[in-house]
Amino acid sequence: MTDKANLREQIAAHLKLYGDLGVRYVALPAEGAPAVAKREGISRPAHKSAAAASPGIRVNASMFDGVPSGEETLQAIRSEIGDCQRCKLAPGRTNLVFGSGNLHAELMFVGEAPGADEDAQGLPFVGRAGQLLTRIIESIGMRRDEVYICNILKCRPPGNRNPEPDEIAACEQFLFRQIDAVKAKVICALGAFGAQTLLRTTEPIGRLRGRLTDFHGAKFMATFHPAYLLRNPNEKRKVWEDMEIIRDYLTSLHTSGEAK
Ligand code: URA
Repeated sequence: MTDKANLREQIAAHLKLYGDLGVRYVALPAEGAPAVAKREGISRPAHKSAAAASPGIRVNASMFDGVPSGEETLQAIRSEIGDCQRCKLAPGRTNLVFGSGNLHAELMFVGEAPGADEDAQGLPFVGRAGQLLTRIIESIGMRRDEVYICNILKCRPPGNRNPEPDEIAACEQFLFRQIDAVKAKVICALGAFGAQTLLRTTEPIGRLRGRLTDFHGAKFMATFHPAYLLRNPNEKRKVWEDMEIIRDYLTSLHTSGEAK
């Protein structure tokens, strides 16, 4: 296959993934904004061929630059987010919280949105809920720096209120692209917002948790949010059970030689 045909196929596959995930459009850089590809000296695919691959989805070709290195791609995503003003949360934030951890993690956690501590530090899950998350990760014999952690929203909602639909709509494409870049074997959504956004469902978290489902070439687990566990410690047991399912699955991949 020629380089061009190969590239076209990759673009079509990416577009299909985003389409399946429910992304209906992708923001194009503002008129006159520097192109990521130019800055990085990478040749970019023609917009036309990408658009033709999946009619109806507007394409920012720079989202495919630098694929497939996870590190490069996450950097490109972060630089495209820039000093984001795409939704009404921007004026209230101290720091944008992109994500942290192992860029090639086998296990990726998706929370809801930064809280006060995260907003102050620019890092996800560093407050009380984050400390509990660290212990949850350690409960299956992993270290926090082995996993990748991010949120549906990159900016703190005022007073830690729930994310609103327009904020999720403005932000979720970046999460999908992070998922695509990290290529984790298991994606674990923490709490209802993460689970419902990723699964495109309104099913309550209590019914979504407790089992692995297929998710775009990976496995998906929903579990309770650590902040919920701080308020309802009796539910911790269920989270340990969910984590054990994840651990057993990852162990089975290692045993069968399918791990990264
Ligand atoms: N809660 C979240 O959902 N995310 C964080 O980063 C912190 C608390």
